[in-house]
Parts: sequence; C-alpha cells; structure tokens
Amino acid sequence: LKSIAIMTSGGDSPGMNAAARAVVRTALNEGVRVFGIYDGYKGMLENRIVELTSQSVSDIIQRGGTFLGTARCPEFKQEETRAKAAEILKSHGIEGLVIIGGDGSLTGGSLLSKYGIPIVGLPGTIDNDVWGSDYTIGADTALNTILDAINKLRDTASAHRRIIVLEVMGRTCGWLAMMAAIAGGAEYVLVPEVHFDLNKICDELKESYANGRRYSIVVVAEGVGSAVDIGKEIGEKTGIDTRVTVLGHVQRGGSPTAEDRVKASMLGEKAALALINGQRNVVFGINNGKVVAIDLHDSVNNNKTLDPELVRLARVLSK
Ligand code: ATP
Repeated sequence: LKSIAIMTSGGDSPGMNAAARAVVRTALNEGVRVFGIYDGYKGMLENRIVELTSQSVSDIIQRGGTFLGTARCPEFKQEETRAKAAEILKSHGIEGLVIIGGDGSLTGGSLLSKYGIPIVGLPGTIDNDVWGSDYTIGADTALNTILDAINKLRDTASAHRRIIVLEVMGRTCGWLAMMAAIAGGAEYVLVPEVHFDLNKICDELKESYANGRRYSIVVVAEGVGSAVDIGKEIGEKTGIDTRVTVLGHVQRGGSPTAEDRVKASMLGEKAALALINGQRNVVFGINNGKVVAIDLHDSVNNNKTLDPELVRLARVLSK
C-alpha cells in the first residue's frame, strides 16, 4: 500500500486534529503517502484532495475544530454519488481512507467501502453515540465545557431563587446530559432514553422550594425537545422563576482536554497502521482504556444505549 487519505466529516469535535495528526505522522513513518480531503464528502466530490506532510499537521494538537474542515453532504446518500467519489479517490492512487466522524459519516464510509475503498473509521463526535466504543473523540472536552457552564450557572442561580434549565447537545443520545448531570450535581436530567414525568418533577420542585431550596438545575438533552418549551412549562406549572440556557455550539469548540488528545492520538495511530497492514472496514474505539476494533457495518447498524448504571447513579445522587 502506497497512499492513504484522511478526512473529517459531520459535526466537528475537539480532538479531531490530534487524531488526524497521528494518522499522518504514523503513515509517513511507515513510508506511506497521505492525502487530506477537505470538507468531508463534499470536498471529496469536488476533488479537493491535497498531499500532506509532517508539517501540515504541526501546531494543531491543541486546537479544537478540524484543520481539514468538515461539511454535511446529503447527496452522499445516493449510490451514483458514492460511485463517483470512489473513482475520484482511485484517480489519486488512494488505497485506503480514514474517516473521522459520527454515526452518519461512518455510515457513508460503510457504503463507500462497497466500491473497493478500504475504510477505517474513528468515532469523532461530541455526542458519544457510536456503537461498540465507550469513547468518542471530543466528548470529554464537550463534557468539561458543559461543566464549566453548570458551575457558573450555579453561582448566579444561588443568588436568586430560580430553576435553571440547561439544554445540552447529544442528538438522540443522552450521554452528555447524563454525565453532565452527575458531574455537575444537577437535580434532574431529562434524556431521550429514559421516561420522565414532567408533572411529577414540577410537583417535587414546588415542594422543595416550599421547604427552602434556593435553586435547582435541570439538564435537558436536546434529543428530548426544546429546553425553552420545557422551561416555560416548568415555570408555569411551578410558579417559580425559571431561566433557560441553551448552550449550543460552544460545546463543540475549545482546546481538547488531555484525555481527548491522548485517546485521539492512540486511535489515529491504530487507524493508519490498520490500513497499512491490510485491515479494512473497521472502526477503532476505546473500551476500558484500550483501543478495540469494531466491525464497521456492525457499528453503523446498531444503536448505542445509555449505561443503566449511569442512570441509576444520577437518580440516587440527585435525591
Ligand atoms: P455528528 O452526529 O457528530 O454531527 P455525523 O457524522 O453523524 O456527526 P451526519 O450529518 O449524520 O453527521 O453525517 C455526515 C455526513 O455523512 C452526511 O452529510 C452525509 O454526507 C454522510 N452520511 C450520513 N448518513 C449517510 C447515509 N445514510 N448514507 C450515506 N452517507 C451518509
């Protein structure tokens, strides 16, 4: 194998740069050329593909975002578009592709592999929703960003008697919300995976404020619905001053944490070596601190569930 390519796709996440850097430097160390594809599948179709050197990835490990750029590309769901993409890759002599992205990007990769392009996926998303891996690149940084927000909201909330409703990202997955609630000491957490009764929550809130509570934090996963609507309902039902914060894209940014940099680097190295050693159509993830290989098709065809132990812990500790 002489040449591989790397791209980032879907939502960006902090640590994608560290992963890309590791892929590039590992491949070069093995005497394999590396091409960078700009802006995900969109750039692939537009043939925006450039050979990378070791210098191309210097001074990026500490940066959030992705130096390769990323994009959404709905046309990639069409078969003829993927056939065209495979031809473009082959025209550069690219014999393997590392895709850093979420579930959607890896699904695209799984379909592209049918055109004879060996694919290795790395889970790059703050949502931590990739099946088969406990970890995704960027989730730890996003979680710390949310925690920082919760700490600040606590200061201001305790100065007033308020209910604070905080919406966090995660798409259909409640992992970020659940972890933020546990680490941030929230009173309630609403996630798509667990049934909740808003009337009951409002009754409990009313009672606790009647007993002297000064403030509460309710974390809402975006997959549950709009925190603005939920906050309005809580305010109306409890009669307590309720304020809503929607964190939005700040959760995507920022310098990656040490955990995200180190794990992304471990995954990037494994991805490059796997392609070079003839392994294909796998996703590398991390379980129990060790890199594991997951079948690409299994990963995209299964849905990750929320660890019931986390749900139980959040419940016990918020009482
Ligand atoms: P995140 O969830 O972190 O935003 P993601 O990779 O899941 O990341 P998506 O927008 O779902 O983000 O997917 C990114 C791109 O992957 C899409 O714009 C499209 O080009 C491609 N893709 C997604 N789903 C499919 C699919 N079913 N078939 C082919 N390509 C797909």
